[in-house]
Amino acid sequence: MSHATADRYAWTEPGVEDLGGGVHRIPLPLPMDGLKAVNVYAIADPSGVDLIDAGIALVPAREQLTAALRQIGYELGDVRNFFVTHIHIDHYSLAIELRKTFHNVISLGEGERANLVATREMVNGRGNRFFGLDGLRRLGAQELVTELSAQHRQPPALVDWEDPDRWLADGTDLDLRTRTLRAVHTPGHTRGHLVYHDAVAQLMFAGDHVLPHITPSIGFEPAGNRMALSDYLGSLARTLTLPDARLLPAHGPVTASTHERVHELLAHHDTRLAETLGAVQAGHATPFEVAKAIKWTRRHREFADLDVFSQVMSVNETAAHLEVLAARGRVTHTVSAEGTDLYQVAPPGL
Ligand SMILES: [Zn+2]
Repeated sequence: MSHATADRYAWTEPGVEDLGGGVHRIPLPLPMDGLKAVNVYAIADPSGVDLIDAGIALVPAREQLTAALRQIGYELGDVRNFFVTHIHIDHYSLAIELRKTFHNVISLGEGERANLVATREMVNGRGNRFFGLDGLRRLGAQELVTELSAQHRQPPALVDWEDPDRWLADGTDLDLRTRTLRAVHTPGHTRGHLVYHDAVAQLMFAGDHVLPHITPSIGFEPAGNRMALSDYLGSLARTLTLPDARLLPAHGPVTASTHERVHELLAHHDTRLAETLGAVQAGHATPFEVAKAIKWTRRHREFADLDVFSQVMSVNETAAHLEVLAARGRVTHTVSAEGTDLYQVAPPGL
């Protein structure tokens, strides 16, 4: 491993990072291809601990959480609350498992209700096992549907997708022993995503809304959301209206300024919107065609060189950018006789 690569993943090393004021970063392992770890944040006081996010319901994550909490003087039974940022398996599922034994209280954004319902339908076999499959056809990517249907993807963990104890509304103030956290609805990554903002200590527990090294996936959720990128750009703008804070992300190291990273993410999406518009101007009409016409990842890779899972994410992301361009009047959207989305450049000046 090169020095640069080693540094890039230093944040995934097991252990505890003391961030001061009783706040600790605890990275937990993940079995996913791209994401090596997820950060759980412990907010400790003499009588117990509250956690932001929970990790995935697998034995290595549970063991590492147990060891990290012991290192700062607590047991799993000392965890009062899980304040979860969103429904994804690497954030929510270990909370459900631990609650069975320790009766901790789980809070989740009320916007995630639809995703929890859709996830249960999927798991119970009433919906698609791989969400987004129907959508892909519509995006002109029938060949990806064929490829995915031939695979038998197993979920990384078996999860009882139970409800949280508490659904949090936007703007809810959570009075912890040592501080007040405000739950701020930041839809985009998922429709019900929350960040937890401590204005006094200038900390932003950002979940997957703002990540320091990668651009968060948009609208990758079982309930689906065609306007996910519009929502996301709105959530980024909203984040700039909050006082700046240290960025405590779910994936990646802690950095000094949430605002600085939000500006970078907004610039990234501006670039992507321009590239997407350029591909439509060149005559590419379906989201699948457009996705194949533009470069991917920070290394500017060809679409054909991505693995099939990344291709699915890329087609969905392209569709999200096309929807934003349509909403802004830069392209027009029609649906073909076969039910495929088609985009073309909007006629000038109206
Ligand atoms: Zn996520």
